[in-house]
Amino acid sequence: MTEPKPLRVLIIGSGVAGLTLGLSLLRLQLSRPHFNLSVKIVDAASRFDAAGAAFCLSPNGTRPLAQLGLLPKLLEKGQVLTGVAMHEGWSKKTVQDIPMPPTAFGGHFIAIERSSIQEILLSEIRGYGIDVHMKKRYKEITENTGENTLRVVYEDDTTDDADIVVGADGVRSRVRDFVLAEDEDTAPCFSGWSYVAGISSSIPNLPAEETGKSHWCIANSGKGGYGTWSLPDNRQFWYVLEPDEIAPRGPGTPMPRYSDESLDASVQRAKQYWHPFGTFSQIVERSDRMYKSALVERHYPRIVSKSGNVVLIGDAAHPMWPYIGQGANASIEDAVILANALLPRSGEVRGTLWYQEQRVDRTARIMRAGGWVGRLQMGETVFWRIARSLSMMLLRLLAPNQASQGTAQQQEGDEGGNRKGGPLDWIHKEDIRLEL
Ligand SMILES: Cc1cc2nc3c(=O)[nH]c(=O)nc-3n(C[C@H](O)[C@H](O)[C@H](O)COP(=O)(O)OP(=O)(O)OC[C@H]3O[C@@H](n4cnc5c(N)ncnc54)[C@H](O)[C@@H]3O)c2cc1C
Repeated sequence: MTEPKPLRVLIIGSGVAGLTLGLSLLRLQLSRPHFNLSVKIVDAASRFDAAGAAFCLSPNGTRPLAQLGLLPKLLEKGQVLTGVAMHEGWSKKTVQDIPMPPTAFGGHFIAIERSSIQEILLSEIRGYGIDVHMKKRYKEITENTGENTLRVVYEDDTTDDADIVVGADGVRSRVRDFVLAEDEDTAPCFSGWSYVAGISSSIPNLPAEETGKSHWCIANSGKGGYGTWSLPDNRQFWYVLEPDEIAPRGPGTPMPRYSDESLDASVQRAKQYWHPFGTFSQIVERSDRMYKSALVERHYPRIVSKSGNVVLIGDAAHPMWPYIGQGANASIEDAVILANALLPRSGEVRGTLWYQEQRVDRTARIMRAGGWVGRLQMGETVFWRIARSLSMMLLRLLAPNQASQGTAQQQEGDEGGNRKGGPLDWIHKEDIRLEL
């Protein structure tokens, strides 16, 4: 008797979304030997580099990674968040300073470099004898409808055949163009805001309580906001969000790309800002990895092709504003749920449409929450400026209570790991697990 053919899954993109999916599928295959699978991961980049990106993983992202056995490495390479403070950049006043519990809902808040998490995921994937095929830039897909298979063509005109193609190719996804082929306008919407970000070397002489602390500063002048996430060894992931004075904004507006001159101008502006460490310039000047990009978002109700065998995950499926730090976390959730969707149970496979049903409403809700927080922090209209001033006033009045509430939460988190009451708790407590 001939062996049934393996399900060939081709993952385009090796960011946190693509690599988490790859590892999840390989783990499922190990625990369910009947899950006959072949996994291939490709990326357009020529090498993994330490571009200056980082993010904070929250319990909804760290719990599934811990289930994959990655928590010790995440704790080694990342920085557990110990507190979040919000400041008025113009008045240098702290309006909110909340200690964070070390764990909440059975997970951690960990700030980590994108390259570190890639390294962690990749070293696990390599343990299965699989590596990422670099310099493979996706160009197009052709469908063999008779056999229900797909052929992916790369820019170098080489090809791969697959049963399922997963677009994990980020915010400028080209696989998305295939999935949404019949929709006229598929590009993410440019917000009119750009961001500059980088990672500094160690900041000297920081007090111990700064380890793990994140700062967010609001510039009420309409010039945006800026902040830092604490990384290991007192290094800082910093970012500045500012309105784009040149590119037009709104639906249908192409996502701008910024020149080195534009990056340089933003960096010079950033150096003028105040920061709780003293000046922002001492952080920026210690950074050699900086980049500038556009803030975009778009909710796509369809993230699976009509044929069902081309699927989007991560930023390709839901480019979102970063105000509540959920893009990477939602990418991890996508990856785990898609792996569960492809797993056969008693001969049945839930399939990619089930994946879509599980993801579309939740990511829309997350994006709505991020949209409100973003407008409150950065909105330029009179309405949002008044709302921002009122919320700052309210936070200042409540600040002492919140600080003490934070301490109580910390104890609760320490003991029970079951913090209650935050407005984003519904996001962090979502219990997504691989069905090992
Ligand atoms: C300032 C800022 C702060 C943020 N903070 C947070 C945070 O605190 N928490 C959080 O959860 N999220 C945060 N995010 C969002 C987070 O960074 C992203 O959501 C996440 O990195 C997306 O991962 P991804 O794997 O989907 O895409 P990417 O990391 O963009 O990976 C896509 C991959 O696809 C490859 N690729 C692209 N095109 C092709 C092609 N044609 N062919 C083959 N390969 C291709 C690329 O080379 C890349 O390796 C933040 C974002 C910003 C901008």
